[in-house]
Amino acid sequence: MVRPRLFQRDDDYEVTCVACGETLPRHDAREYDKYGDRFTRDGKTFEYLCKPCHREYSHLPRDGLESTLIEARAGEVSRESFFARYFELEYDDTQTTSD
Ligand SMILES: [Zn+2]
Repeated sequence: MVRPRLFQRDDDYEVTCVACGETLPRHDAREYDKYGDRFTRDGKTFEYLCKPCHREYSHLPRDGLESTLIEARAGEVSRESFFARYFELEYDDTQTTSD
C-alpha cells in the first residue's frame, strides 16, 4: 500500500528550531506542538525544537506560554515579527489579552 506522502515517515529532511532558528536534521529535533497536543496529528504541521532548546524550555514556567506563542503567531510570521509580538505580549502589562 502506498501511503500519501504527507503521512510517510521521513526523517531525512531538515527542520528549523522555533526557539533559536538553528537548522538541524529532523531526527535530531524534538516535535513541538504549540497547542500542547502531540497526539492529534491530522492536518497538523509540527514545529521543532533542537535538543538544547527543548531541554531548556522544559524547565521554564509555562503558564500562559502557549497562548502567548499562539497570539504572537509563532511559526506564521518572520522571527523578527514574532519576537516583537512576543515581547510586546509578554511584557506589556498595561493591556489585558484575555481571549
Ligand atoms: Zn534551538
